[in-house]
Order: sequence, then structure tokens, then C-alpha cells
Amino acid sequence: MPALGEFMAGLVKRNPNEPEFHQAVHEVARDVLPYMAAHPEYLDAQILERMTEPDRIIVFRVVWEDDKRNVRVNRGYRIQFNQAIGPYKGGLRFDPSVNLSVLKFLGFEQTFKNSLTGLPMGSGKGGSNFNPKGKSESEIMRFCQSYMTELHRHIGQYTDVPAGDIGVGGREIGYLFGQYKRITNEFAGVLTGKGLDFGGSEIRTEATGYGCVYFAQHMLAHVGDSLDGKRCLVSGSGNVAQYAARKLVELGAKVLTLSDRSGFIHDPEGLTSDKLDEIADYKTRQRKSLSDYAQESGCSFIPQHRPWAIESDAAFPCATQNEIYPEDAKTLLANGCKIVCEGANMPTVAEAAEILEQSDILYGPAKAANAGGVAVSGLEMSQNSMRYSLSRKGIDDELSKIMIGIHERCVEYGAGSNGVDYVKGANIAGFTKVAGAMLAYGVI
Ligand code: GLU
Repeated sequence: MPALGEFMAGLVKRNPNEPEFHQAVHEVARDVLPYMAAHPEYLDAQILERMTEPDRIIVFRVVWEDDKRNVRVNRGYRIQFNQAIGPYKGGLRFDPSVNLSVLKFLGFEQTFKNSLTGLPMGSGKGGSNFNPKGKSESEIMRFCQSYMTELHRHIGQYTDVPAGDIGVGGREIGYLFGQYKRITNEFAGVLTGKGLDFGGSEIRTEATGYGCVYFAQHMLAHVGDSLDGKRCLVSGSGNVAQYAARKLVELGAKVLTLSDRSGFIHDPEGLTSDKLDEIADYKTRQRKSLSDYAQESGCSFIPQHRPWAIESDAAFPCATQNEIYPEDAKTLLANGCKIVCEGANMPTVAEAAEILEQSDILYGPAKAANAGGVAVSGLEMSQNSMRYSLSRKGIDDELSKIMIGIHERCVEYGAGSNGVDYVKGANIAGFTKVAGAMLAYGVI
């Protein structure tokens, strides 16, 4: 068995200047290499080396005109990571922070996450360094059309099915799907997160946030506890954070915070559903910041900080990668926080994750806890193939069952004398299915 250090040295050499990708691989290799030692068939087949090398990376120029007729140039990407267990599947992120390292980390994580859902989905990720903030409706549309004009030749319902992520919501998926249809003259389930009027699924918008809270419920139930009355810190205020907060309130928990790039709002009494409606209107419809909301509503606002120092029982990081640092992890523990459940992808930096793993806290890693979003995307694909739509309740029940299944798989591979190691459980359970398929295909 190659030692972790040796394996990582090779990976870093082959993929220089990609710290986020190194971080994501390290976290998986640490658990999977010892597991492989007991299963030499994976070692002989170089499965982990193959899994860390994407099937292909597509990089392209995206040119569009802004409202003043200036020509603008962005970079577009689609990483088709692994197709062993189904078509490439994963979101598109439009954000200035997008680069190859970020998309490779996300695509790699997606391999394990999609496998954990139990649905037949391979992994991919894409997007652009385009910044949607401050752009007009027609600029967004022209950008999406230009992006899809290149992307369309690489995707398809049996090949690669993108969806949304940060900066890509229902509006963008509408423009992207419209352009795909216009170019190909084909109405196919080639994107998920579509509007309900044109092939979208019930609960897709809510799924990542709801699924994350369902996962937290199962982790707590496993140790005889529940969310009832828990004081929760939620970071982020996009789609994932909003629906995680709503579900928490519905289940009797208290949501103390939400955050965005401007800072965080703090409501010691707990945000009510009415307040969450107001915030959704600010963030999603008016596209304003939480500092604007705080100014107009008079609620307490702490600029330029994340919420982790507030005393709490549970933390739901739902913003973006690397937002919990070691000092935050220590503060959460010192304040008696019992559970950290990740709604965003890789929100905890490596050293902070180690601190959490070595403590008694329940730590639900993103690839398990936030898999509800892509799971309902998988259900959207099935519904499109059947030319049929399931009811809201039907999809919510399926989502619930899928999150139970993910929890069971984590317990199966992660249970030990000190309780369940959810990181290890998610890594190994996600790995075995993909690795099994790759072995079956031989040397390809
Ligand atoms: N972007 C989401 C994720 O990180 C959803 C992907 C999808 O639905 O394909 O899993």
C-alpha cells in the first residue's frame, strides 16, 4: 500500500497549485488507503490513482456583450470526472472564485456523494469565473446563452447532466435549458433544477437544505437525541441555508443566524418563518445583502464575521468551502456545540475537520449531509425519462428515504468503539460502489 504521504506527493506533483483539490483528495485518501490495504484487488488496479484523474476536462472561452455593448470574456469549464456508475452529474458554479482547483475538488467530492445516494449517477462539475452579482437580467441571459453554445456539444441526458450550484439557480437553468433546446431542437432531461412548468421536479429547490437537516436528525437519533429546541447556527443565506433554516424551524429548532459575504445576522430569539420569508425576498428576489436587510429590519448584524462564536448546540455551515477554521472549531466545542452538519461543499478546512473528528461532536461531512440536492436531481432525471411528475409529498418521502440510506451506509462503514466516524463511513461507502464498477470494466 502506498503511504498517504507518498500518494499525496505524487498527486500534488501531477496537479500543482490546486490546494482545494489536494485538500479534498487528502481527506478521502486518508480513509480509503488503509481500507484498500485489506482489499488488494483495488491496489493492483490502481483504483485511487484512476479516481483522482478526471475522465476529461473541458475548458473554453465564453464571450458576451454587456448592456453597454462592451465585449466581455470569461472562462467556462466542465469537468467530466467519473462515469463508472452513471452519466456525469453535478452542478455549475458561476462565481469569480471559480478555477480548476475548486472545480476539481467539487467534481471529486461529487463522485462519492453521488455514489452514496444509491442512484445511478457519475460525477462532474463545471461553471465559470463569471460574477453574476450586479449584472442585469439580460446580461445574465446573454452570458448563459453564450456558455451553453459551447457546452451543449459535451452534454446529454445519457452523457452528462449539469445542474445549479452557487450563482446558478432556477433563472440561470431556464436560460441554459432554453439555449440547449434552441440549438439541438431536442426536449431532453439534460439539465436538472428546471422550472416545474418544463420538466423540473418538486422539492428540488428545497432538497439540499431539507436533506441536510434530515441527515442531522438521523445522526442525533442514532445517539438518542433530537433537534427539538436546539440552538442552531446557520451560515450562508442562499438556497441551501434558507431551506435548512426553514426545515429546522419546522422541526422545533431555533435558528439564531444566517450569513453572507457582508457579515451575519443574529436573532437570539430564533428566526421565525415570517422573518425567513422576508430574508428570502431580500436575497433571492431583490438580490440584496443581509446588511441591507439588517438596516431596514433593525435586527442585530455583525459585519465581516462568520457566526461560529455565538453559543449554540448545532452548526450548519451552508455558505461555501473553507469557512470553518481551527479556531472556529475550538470555539464551537468550547461552547458545547453537539453537532456540525455540512450543507455546503467542504466548508471545514482540513485542520478544523481534524479537531472536530478527534472530539465527541457529531460531524456530518458534506458528501453525505448535502447529498439531498443531487439526489432529487436524480429523481428529476428519472421523472424526465418516464415523462411523468411525482407529487411533492412523493418526492419528499423519497428524499427522506435516501437520506436514511446514506446514514445507514455511513454507519455500516464508519461505526467504531467511539461511535460513528461519519467522514470515514461516507468516504468508504462512496468509494466501494464506484470502485466495484471500475474493476468490472477492466483496464480503462
Ligand atoms: N451543486 C449541487 C451539489 O453540490 C447539486 C448538483 C446536482 O444537482 O447535479 O451537489
